[in-house]
Amino acid sequence: MKYAIIIPDGCADEPQASLGRKTPLQAARKPNMDRVACDGVVGQSNNVPDSLTPASDVATLSLFGYDPLKYYTGRAPLEAAAMGITLGPHDWAVRCNLVTVIDDVMVDFSGGHVSIPDGKAYMESVREHLYGGPLEFHAGVSYRNLMIFRGSPAVPAPFARETKTQPPHDIPDKPIADHLPAGPGAELLRDLMTQSRSFLDGHPLNRTRRARGESPVTQIWLWGQGQAPNLTPFHQLYGKRGAMITAVDLLRGVAAFLGWTRIDVPTATGYLDTDYAAKGRAGVEALNEHDLVCVHIEATDEASHEGKADEKVKALEEIDRHIVGPMVAALQRHGRWRILISPDHRTLLRERVHGRGLVPWTIAGSGVAPSGGTYDEFAAVRGPHRFDRGEDLMRFFLGD
Ligand SMILES: [Zn+2]
Repeated sequence: MKYAIIIPDGCADEPQASLGRKTPLQAARKPNMDRVACDGVVGQSNNVPDSLTPASDVATLSLFGYDPLKYYTGRAPLEAAAMGITLGPHDWAVRCNLVTVIDDVMVDFSGGHVSIPDGKAYMESVREHLYGGPLEFHAGVSYRNLMIFRGSPAVPAPFARETKTQPPHDIPDKPIADHLPAGPGAELLRDLMTQSRSFLDGHPLNRTRRARGESPVTQIWLWGQGQAPNLTPFHQLYGKRGAMITAVDLLRGVAAFLGWTRIDVPTATGYLDTDYAAKGRAGVEALNEHDLVCVHIEATDEASHEGKADEKVKALEEIDRHIVGPMVAALQRHGRWRILISPDHRTLLRERVHGRGLVPWTIAGSGVAPSGGTYDEFAAVRGPHRFDRGEDLMRFFLGD
């Protein structure tokens, strides 16, 4: 049996006035997804347990059949895996954003979406001033960088599960004083953040950026800490060899821990201008070598964060045409097959942020009786299947 999973990230939403009171899924012309729903079943899942933050790191673990309450350890270790950084049993990864804080207010969580070369230059300065002992700093892409604490039994990391940190994108224009790290190891994190102000604020690049009207990078912001998750590889748990096609580091990291092959599509951007057709072709190709192929598309989530309903509809139509259509055709050529289409979490155009709650999915293929439905939030509510623990959907999908 061959399996495909298509994830239009954050596509689930509410009815929109601008779309004639339809949700983006209802408004989109998506004959291929609706065919899957008509020939198969629709249902709902909750991929985000109440105690965790709705985001792709937590929600995709559920979607791939892993209980996040048991396996989720933080965002940074997943990104470390995507960057090829191996974490030992005593190591912690911490996300190290380059941010703009002015008058103790979080003005920009991304340092003005700092360019990759500028980001590297700032991180070079961070490394120069803060490197030492157990601390390592790794430049990633733009403002998304990492700090690694290499712990040992003699010098253990001071952090614990109770350590509390704040994602900087969740505190726009808020005073940082109310959102500084707390709990075990907080003193170290606060101290590094404070130290970084002394050499970043006066960094020569900031003069250039200010002159160009861009946000200066005034300090680092440490958050998202965690140790390497101890995931049983997907093949061992579910008996299938998987592959992941995504433009997002977080999802590459999840795939690394699942033991899936990561397939890069150079023209995939993780944004609205991504090369949908190239991702579809890569998916079709990957089916030859793998039991299960997952294609993740970030554009639907990005459109939601930008509050653009029409772009969200357009992204869904592109996914339908260039990815779902070719994937279903290819699956049929392989004999026995199944496809699952589901977002990881909801992303609401109204609030421009991720939402909690049930998301609609549809499954079709060998051994699935047709239900004659369509694929959208309301059809899913009427469907017979609901998984309050999102991780239970995987066994149902695999059907054995
Ligand atoms: Zn998002």
